[in-house]
This record gives sequence, C-alpha cells and structure tokens, in this order.
Amino acid sequence: MDSSKVVGIRIIRLEEVDSTNEYAKRIALEVPEGTVVVARRQSSGRGRLGRRWASPDGGLWLSAILKPGKPDPRLVFIGGLAVVDTLLDFGIPGGIKWPNDVWVSNKKISGVLTEGKGSEYVILGIGLNVNNPIPQELGESATSMMMELGKTVPIERVLERLLFHLDVWYRIYRERPDLLMARLRERTFILGRTVRITEGETTVTGRALDVLDDGSLLLEVGGELKRILYGDVSLRPV
Ligand code: ADP
Repeated sequence: MDSSKVVGIRIIRLEEVDSTNEYAKRIALEVPEGTVVVARRQSSGRGRLGRRWASPDGGLWLSAILKPGKPDPRLVFIGGLAVVDTLLDFGIPGGIKWPNDVWVSNKKISGVLTEGKGSEYVILGIGLNVNNPIPQELGESATSMMMELGKTVPIERVLERLLFHLDVWYRIYRERPDLLMARLRERTFILGRTVRITEGETTVTGRALDVLDDGSLLLEVGGELKRILYGDVSLRPV
C-alpha cells in the first residue's frame, strides 16, 4: 500500500444524511485530513448558492475533508479532474464545465462543491449520478453513468476509483499545481466557445479563452479581456 495516501484514509459511511458537506463540516476539526464521508442518500443535498442537488439512492454522494492550510479556488478542480478520470475508467468521456461541473454529451453528470473555514479545512463535496434516477424536473439537462452505459454500474468500484483519483490529484495539486492546471485546461470543454456568465445580477457574454494559473476564467468580451473569478456558465447565450 502507498503510505503517502491521503484521501480516503478513513471512510465514514452513512445511510442517510442532510448533506455530506454539512456532516463533514461538523466533524472536520476532529478527524484527520483525508477522511471521507459517503452517504447512500442526502435529504438536503445542495449545489452552489444553496440550490437543491437531487441525491436519491444509487448515486455517489461524498465529501472529502482536506486540510491544505489555506483556501484556494483551484481545489475544486481536484474534484472535477478525479470525476473525469473515474468516468474514463468506465469508458465514459466527460469534460469539465468551469468551474465545478462535469458534463457528458451536453448533460450534467456530476457537481463539485468546495466549502472551507479559513485556513482550518476545505470540504470537497462531489455528487456523481451513477445508478440513481434523474428527477423529472431536470429533464434532458442531466445524465447518469447508468444512462450513458445502458446498464447498472458497480457503485463500490466507482467509489474506489474516485478515491484513488482524488488522492492522485490532491498530491499533484500540492506538488505540481502547474500540472493540475495544464490538465484542467485540456479537460475544460468551454474553452474557445461563446459562453454567458452570470454572477448575481451581472451577466456577461464572451468567448472563453483560457483558465489562468489562479483558476480564474479569461473571457474576451467585445475585444476586451475580462478575468472572471466565479460564476454560472451557460453555453447558450441569449
Ligand atoms: P451549477 O454549478 O451547474 O450552476 P450547482 O452546483 O448550483 O449548479 O448545482 C445545482 C443545480 O444542479 C440545480 O439547480 C439543478 O439544476 C442541477 N441538479 C440538481 N441535482 C442534480 C443531479 N443529481 N444531477 C445533475 N444536475 C443536478
């Protein structure tokens, strides 16, 4: 066994929880870095800005407790890159929709949510649709591994691969963040495309040019360059 393994050194399995991120926050200070919380279902799964994340039985809902020493917007990319690699292990090609989603054939299959407390900890939450049903209200906007493959997928194996890739990408993040960012650029499918970005009341439409070293998105808007720190990206500009 690799003695330098961090993510997944300890796994807490729950039948049901409000949200694995909330549970992880409650225990973060008492447990070692790399502790992972996995639940069979979440009663109040959330995305960004408190938006509901459907988390019924059959999906993978987990949070990893990391203690990198300081907050960093690039930590979210560890989740996206690990999900893309996990999907590839099962023959599913996916891409990252900057900053925090993974899409497969124009549909969302996974969301990543990082939440932190100063320099004390960062919770890296991942929701991945595996064998779970997709709620009707999400319609055509979401997919699952089962839908992509046309058969159920062994979820324990998915968990194992995901923890493996999280551990690898967390190590790369700490030792060679330049490599993490290089792979992120390769995996980010919005680069070169026209996108609409909404942040609060502000909406801006432009061409996504690059993800900068600090994790922000470089956008060309009417011939001018804009740096976007965070926002909702939509691929269908109006
Ligand atoms: P985004 O980063 O895509 O803007 P969030 O991280 O805020 O989205 O995630 C919440 C949104 O994701 C919800 O508003 C809903 O549209 C969508 N969603 C909720 N549950 C799921 C799911 N299980 N799979 C795919 N998409 C979902």
